[in-house]
Amino acid sequence: MKHRSAKRLTRRWLPILLCLLLIGGCSSGPKLAPVPPDQAADNSNGHESPPPSQEPAPDSDPGNTPDNGSQLPDEPAGNSGSEDAPGADEDVPNAGGDSAQPPVDDGTYDATWVAAGDIMMHMPQLPGAYDEAAGTYNFNSFFKPVKPILEQGDWTLGNLETPIAGKSLGLSGYPRFNAPAELGDALKYAGFTTITNANNHAMDRGSQGIAMTLAKLQKLGLDTKGTARSKAEADKLTIVKRAGISMGLLAYTYGTNGIPLPKDQPYAVSLIDEQAIIKDIGRLKAAGADFITVCLHFGIEYQTTPNDEQTMLARNLIAAGADIIAGSHPHVVQPYELAEVTNPDGTARKGLIIYSMGNFISNQRGNTKDYGVIYKVGIHKEHGATTIGSVKAIPTWVHRTSVKGVNRYAIVPIGDAIASKSLADLSSADYAAVKSTYAQVTKRIESMHSKPVQLQASQ
Ligand SMILES: [Zn+2]
Repeated sequence: MKHRSAKRLTRRWLPILLCLLLIGGCSSGPKLAPVPPDQAADNSNGHESPPPSQEPAPDSDPGNTPDNGSQLPDEPAGNSGSEDAPGADEDVPNAGGDSAQPPVDDGTYDATWVAAGDIMMHMPQLPGAYDEAAGTYNFNSFFKPVKPILEQGDWTLGNLETPIAGKSLGLSGYPRFNAPAELGDALKYAGFTTITNANNHAMDRGSQGIAMTLAKLQKLGLDTKGTARSKAEADKLTIVKRAGISMGLLAYTYGTNGIPLPKDQPYAVSLIDEQAIIKDIGRLKAAGADFITVCLHFGIEYQTTPNDEQTMLARNLIAAGADIIAGSHPHVVQPYELAEVTNPDGTARKGLIIYSMGNFISNQRGNTKDYGVIYKVGIHKEHGATTIGSVKAIPTWVHRTSVKGVNRYAIVPIGDAIASKSLADLSSADYAAVKSTYAQVTKRIESMHSKPVQLQASQ
């Protein structure tokens, strides 16, 4: 009896108890301790304690936060989409295309310009990227840790310092390079939009190497500049419109390591000629470029400061209408400089000169040759006038490891890697050494821009 009545009691009261529990559960929601607003802000900042993500931290300050020292508003929302949809800009045509930005009709546009240094391929870089079964190479892992930074660019530029004509022309390293064509796929994967080829290794496989390299890069939807298969291609203006802003692009090299340009193809590689470059700047302006980037392969190898030839040429081109000089070739990082240009009507314009971005990827080690720098620059257009905004230099390091005698490479944003101690193979002593070199490279990068050089517009 006792048992039965207990059962009856349970049957009668259980639904009521459940209801009470449910109501209690709902009503207790708001009573949970709310996150104080300031604590919530700390969490979203995330700088103090990085999330336990397995992905490498792309950049402790991705530049989207207003505390970036930026003079620009936040980047357009459209930029962030590129990480979720790699290759979303594949359909952007070579010139005049517009990416899928939300329509803005107040005459104000913001875009991000990104560039990295020399992309080299020494022979020791090959075996670790080779898939013997498939007979193909895959270099994506080299770029994986910096991909989230490179993808932030509406234009992301790199100097490819080797033909990528592939096996048919013979793979080789220094002194005459020729890399697997798959390097092109890796550059696309990494987030580059634009590859310049005007450098001293452009002719390492002759005009055939140039043709095969351009064919591969263009098939991948990458914009190219600095080498050409025809006079028409060399003369063609490159204006790439992204996020409502048109960038005019030029690229030249000091020479081709003594390999002469074919007599019947003097246009194969664009060589530095100050007056010719100034003319090209004028042509781009007349054709509607909002700002102009001139990539220069110049300077002396392993010199950590620009020489007079570099500073004179770069400043003259800024005075003549270039907005950004993107320098490469010394295989070490050199500083960047800001310029203030006074126009004939008294108005002023800003210029940015990056003397050398060092080695982005290579097998070179020591004396800072294993360091490079990615630049991230805000470009702002308002009522037809385009200006350079924030300039952020993100030093990189080629992290080389050896697995069973085979080298593996990864370009890492070294400031973040040191802060998070994310490179498992490095000892405390290794970290201390890398930290000291990182400090040295950073100091060098930042050593010239505090006092902008004053220039008079020359045209
Ligand atoms: Zn070079």
